[in-house]
Amino acid sequence: MFAKLSKDLAKKGRSSSVIIVGGGIIGTMHAWLALEAGHEVTHIERDILPRSASVRNFGLVWVSGREAGKELDLAIRARELWGDIGSRAEIGFRANGSLTIATNEEEWAILQEAIEMPDAKKRGFELLTRDHVHSLEPVLAGDYFGALRCTLDAAVEPPFLLAGLRREMAKNSKYTWVPGCEIVKYKVRESGHSVKSSDGQKFSADRIVFVPGSEHKGFLADYFEGAPIRRVRLQMGATVPLAQRLSHSIADGDSLRYYPAFKNLSLHTLPSQSEVATALKMQLLLVQRADGSCTIGDTHEYDEPFDHELAEAPYEHLRSVITKIFGVEAPQIERRWDGVYSQSTSKDIYFRKEIEPGAVIVTGGGGRGNSLAPAIAEETIRSWQK
Ligand SMILES: Cc1cc2nc3c(=O)[nH]c(=O)nc-3n(C[C@H](O)[C@H](O)[C@H](O)COP(=O)(O)OP(=O)(O)OC[C@H]3O[C@@H](n4cnc5c(N)ncnc54)[C@H](O)[C@@H]3O)c2cc1C
Repeated sequence: MFAKLSKDLAKKGRSSSVIIVGGGIIGTMHAWLALEAGHEVTHIERDILPRSASVRNFGLVWVSGREAGKELDLAIRARELWGDIGSRAEIGFRANGSLTIATNEEEWAILQEAIEMPDAKKRGFELLTRDHVHSLEPVLAGDYFGALRCTLDAAVEPPFLLAGLRREMAKNSKYTWVPGCEIVKYKVRESGHSVKSSDGQKFSADRIVFVPGSEHKGFLADYFEGAPIRRVRLQMGATVPLAQRLSHSIADGDSLRYYPAFKNLSLHTLPSQSEVATALKMQLLLVQRADGSCTIGDTHEYDEPFDHELAEAPYEHLRSVITKIFGVEAPQIERRWDGVYSQSTSKDIYFRKEIEPGAVIVTGGGGRGNSLAPAIAEETIRSWQK
């Protein structure tokens, strides 16, 4: 499938030189697909190693919660691309599926509605009783009603995802990785698009893609002025390694409130969340890493300036939910961090702005940026063929 895609892209598009500014997952997927389409890629990153949202996230490729229609279709396309890329690069891709766990009757009733949604089959939904879940995941031995399984959901490993993709791309002589290089100026000339870094390096190419994540200021500030976009801060953690393996990624019933897939279901019947979960718009997401630890989260903070400290109460809340689902005391949390993503606030799935012919800013994928990254990049490369 992917080979067909690249042949198709290469055939229709004129091969050209491309600069990609931003080494997060959306920038890196642009580099990957531009190379596949035969372009020469200079990939520039401010930090020596990227340290923004793309390495702070869960690594979830989450199809289950996407809004019906365009967003779901984009997520399904992205999932196909992830499957192919995951078979070719060392990124820890696994088609593990997810379980959204109902811990009360109201959530269980909503899962029963979810399985009847017109696109439930397209999403790979299955409704599982508590005993069925427990037989699949012995770790989930707690007190709950059942789960919605989504067989399409998948996961990758943020600790080595970007490096794995770059290692594979480096085998292609058309790929140049330029880390530790902060772009501070952009100019369009007759000869093409030029950028200059803070230490005076200059780069030019036929096309340029700016993928700066949550950096809405700096030399791109004018283009972001008044744009329907905001930044969101999340708190995350990692538990000590578990002795047992969990094959699925896990979400709690609170996630039903936040994922747009479920927005037309009877959410008004849900009991209120705990005080801290309400204040920080929390849900539990949990995914086990290759080393056995579990990445857990999350909170959502929208008002800037963001707090510079990590609050402890959300971690206590997450551990109490895990204890309920596991049926034993939740594992200790051994690392804590936060992360900020850029989110489109318009009806657009993400923020795309052509600032000059051949120069585009792409960001604002929000909490679905990792999931959608390859499909977002594919939309850019395809737009070059028009
Ligand atoms: C805590 C957390 C959990 C999340 N969990 C998930 C999840 O499980 N699944 C999911 O789908 N999404 C998730 N997301 C969202 C997802 O991580 C983001 O949408 C995605 O990583 C954005 O990728 P990006 O490449 O646009 O941005 P970033 O990862 O922010 O990368 C942008 C890069 O651009 C570089 N840059 C910026 N300005 C310059 C410059 N002037 N010159 C050079 N380089 C520059 C930065 O240094 C940075 O490395 C999560 C986000 C957070 C914060």
